[in-house]
This record gives sequence, C-alpha cells and structure tokens, in this order.
Amino acid sequence: MAKPSDYIINAAPSDPLEIPALKPGAMAGCKPFVAKPEVQAALGLPGTLVENWQAKAIEKMGDLLNSSRSLQVAMDSCMKCGACTDKCHFFLGTGDPKNMPVARQDLMRSVYRRYFTVTGKYFPWLVGARDLTEDVLDEWYTYFHQCSQCRRCSVYCPIGIDTSEVSMAARDIMASVGRGQKYSNEIIGKGLKTGNNLGLPLAAIRSTLDSLEEDLRADTGVDIAMPLDAKGSDIMLVVPSADLFAEPHIQGLIGYAKVFHQSGLSWTLSSYASEAANFALFTGSHDHMREMARRIREAALDLGVKRIVFGECGHAWRVAYNFLDTLAGPFDFLDQDHPIPQHICEFTHALIERGQLRFDKSQNDAYRLTYHDSCNVARGSRMGDKPGGQFEIPRALLRASCNHFFDMAPETIGEHTLCCGGGGGLLGDDLMELRAKGAQPRMRALKNVAVEHGVTHMAAICAICKSQFGSVLPAYGFKRDAILSVHQLVGNAIVLDGSIQARALQKAAR
Ligand code: SF4
Ligand code: SF4
Repeated sequence: MAKPSDYIINAAPSDPLEIPALKPGAMAGCKPFVAKPEVQAALGLPGTLVENWQAKAIEKMGDLLNSSRSLQVAMDSCMKCGACTDKCHFFLGTGDPKNMPVARQDLMRSVYRRYFTVTGKYFPWLVGARDLTEDVLDEWYTYFHQCSQCRRCSVYCPIGIDTSEVSMAARDIMASVGRGQKYSNEIIGKGLKTGNNLGLPLAAIRSTLDSLEEDLRADTGVDIAMPLDAKGSDIMLVVPSADLFAEPHIQGLIGYAKVFHQSGLSWTLSSYASEAANFALFTGSHDHMREMARRIREAALDLGVKRIVFGECGHAWRVAYNFLDTLAGPFDFLDQDHPIPQHICEFTHALIERGQLRFDKSQNDAYRLTYHDSCNVARGSRMGDKPGGQFEIPRALLRASCNHFFDMAPETIGEHTLCCGGGGGLLGDDLMELRAKGAQPRMRALKNVAVEHGVTHMAAICAICKSQFGSVLPAYGFKRDAILSVHQLVGNAIVLDGSIQARALQKAAR
C-alpha cells in the first residue's frame, strides 16, 4: 500500500500559501472506493446506479435547491471574481485546477444551468451548460471527494459562497442514485447500528475504561472515575469513538476525566450514544444526521443528566453547535443555565476562569507547542459568549498548561486555518495521495514555526485532524507523535487534589 511519503515532492520550509504551477488532470485518477450494495442498502440507499439515474439525480437536485436557499444562491450568484481560486489546500497541494473552489462548484453549476435555467435549456453552449452524463457523474465523484468541506474558500468569497454545501449536495445526490462513498457510508451504517463509528460493543468500551481507571490510579495516586451509563450524573460526555482507543485521542479522554474529577461534578459516558462524530454531515444526508443526533437526546433522557458536554471532535461540534436542537430537540429537560450543548474546552475554560483548576506547567516542558485550528470548529461553529471564542478558548487552555506556546503564521490560523487534508470523509487509505498532498500547506506552516521557534509538537481538538496528522507528519519530517490532544496537555499539567504530584509540589514549596 502506498505511503504518504510516496507523494511528497518538497517537504522543505517554504511559503505555505505558494501558488503552484497548474497541473490539469493531476488528480483525475484519485477517487474513493464506491460503497458496496449492502452498505448502501443498510442506509436505505440503492446498491448500484439505478435505472433512469439521470432523471432521478436531477429530481434530487431540484429538491435540494428548493430546500436550501444557500445552494440556489451558490448556483446563481458566482461572478467569477477569482478570489477563491488559490484558497483551497487541495489546489495548493496538487496544482489541479479542478481543485480551485470555483471550478469545483462549476461541476455542479454547469449541470444546474442545463436543467434549471432557460438559457441553459435552449442555448447550453452560451452558458457552459452540460448534460448530466456518466462521464460528468464520474467527474463529480472524483472532485466532490477532493473537497474536505473545510469552508476556507467561503471566507474569501465576497458573497460568501460555501463550496462545502455544494459538495455535500453533490454527494447526497450521488448516493441517492446508487453512487455512495464506501468510507463514510460504512461508518454511518456502524454508527446507526451500534451507536459508534467503530461498532465497539458495550463490553469493549467498559474494558477500555476499566484499564484507564487502573492506569490513572497508578499514575496519580487518585481514584479518577471513568463512568459508563451512570444514571443521574450531572453531565453526559459525548466523545468521538477514537477517544476510546486511538493515540493521541485517548490521552485527551484522560484529560477530560481529570478535569471532571477536579470540578466535583459527576459525569458519565453513554454506551448508547457512544459517538460524537456525525459522518452524515459529510455525505449531506439530513435523515442520517438526525438519526445519529437523536441517539444523543435519548441517551441524555434515559440517563437523567442535566448537561451535555462534547469532547474534542471538529465536525461533531459543528453539527452539535449548529443543529443539535433542530435535529433532535427540544432539550428543555436539561439545565438551562449552561450552554446546550457545551464544548469540553468551554467547560475547562470556565473552571480556569473561576480559579478552580491549578496547573504545574513544567509537566509539559518537554513540548514546544503550536496549535492547529480545526476547520469545523474555526469556520463552522463558535465557543463561549464572545466572537472568536473558538480561537481564544483552546489557546487559553494551552497557555494555562504549557510554558512554551507559539502560534503559526496568522494567515494560516484562526479563521484562515488550513485543513489537515483528511476532513470531510476523506480519511480512508484509498485517498492517501490526496491526503498527503492536501496536508502540504499546513505542514509547511508547521515547519516554518519549527525553524523559527523550535516548535516540536502541535495540539488539536479534532479527532480527524489527530488521525490525519498521525499519518502524514512523518512524510514531512516530523515524528508521528508530534500531534497531541489539547486535553492531553491540560491533563498532564493539572494538579489533582491529593495526587502524588500535589504532594510533591507541597514538599518542594516547604
Ligand atoms: S470547502 Fe475547503 S476543501 Fe472544499 S473547495 Fe473550499 S477550500 Fe477546498
Ligand atoms: S470567490 Fe465567490 S464569487 Fe468569486 S469566483 Fe469564487 S465562488 Fe465565485
């Protein structure tokens, strides 16, 4: 199997936003595996391309245009100003002009014009209108799966056209006529069946949590609970299932547990809603998105909790922050004095602001850190009660728990952040070339801050970013474990009452 390093041409420090030479068709052969019929069937979708698929696809496009004003605006309003052309990390990393956001939109816009505009119906050559042929469908399948739905292009578009919505709609249309994506649809199927993306059964979750409790007792000298299905808890924590088994994600889970322990509030995970991630955002299926969200409400009601807190997962937070109430509400049974839902970073930050947490920053002195703003948090949501809280709050946690923190260049962070290259349902090995090349702008920005400030590690609050960076970092000359969870650093430095660390600090102070 190809490795990320097979695709890297230049890993030297350089301008992350350098515009590449055009390479038409460079990525035309890079597409994800198609979902098998049984995977499609489990989601209520046709297993193979249906008869009369063109008519059905156009009908579905009409439905989506009717239900989404922003999709209609995207189709009608682009003035070809070119402001978005060099803003996509997949264009910057591949040079393929079809990865320019406006060109990606045009794949759908040309079909829209043919079937939904008078000029396109009668004079298609005048407006670049195209029939939806099998070749066009193939092109859609290829290039709408080379969009990580990161929304960076929309920040620069003067009228705010959001290519991520266009790619979601295209994927939804394709899946509805029998051309679904294997990786995302398999994951959604497992989530709907078992409650988590990995299909982890209750016994496996319990066993992981038991071992973590033992490890924590040995490391800290404190009994830190990792509760599962504990009825009547104050808080239900919903985490991406990667937090239960993958590195560095699981270190983040340990950090959450330490924060909850120190807060004095009771908390629990749910085996029924054991997944924060909601891959239906990537496939554009509102029905599947609603099903996954519904499990969270049912679990919260069943457990009788007062609050819902989400762990570190970028797109889960985008769905939760924007749509949880619409998809699965009302949440009037929860404590209304706290955000519904709340992000774990907001929760920890509030404790810091109230002086309830103490840190020994020297515990993280082995790291010189930077922070990667995950796209779905940065451009798809907010945190706290002030604009920009989604940028400030995670950094406040890092500054509270680490002595050595350095931001990357301003044009590559915050609202302008560069995608990890694996978001939007593109994290499968079948797209490794795309992932490796799409990570290039972020890796260059990281390399620059490593040269300027000796940065050794990067922290993130997204499960997909952590997995993607774990794969591609070595190809760019970094160690695989140079990516860390924000709550891993919080957990390293937090001083737990009665812990071995607290006793050592008291002794040193005497
Ligand atoms: S949403 Fe992100 S990945 Fe998609 S076209 Fe825009 S910049 Fe590229
Ligand atoms: S920035 Fe907006 S209006 Fe300009 S070309 Fe891109 S999508 Fe069209």
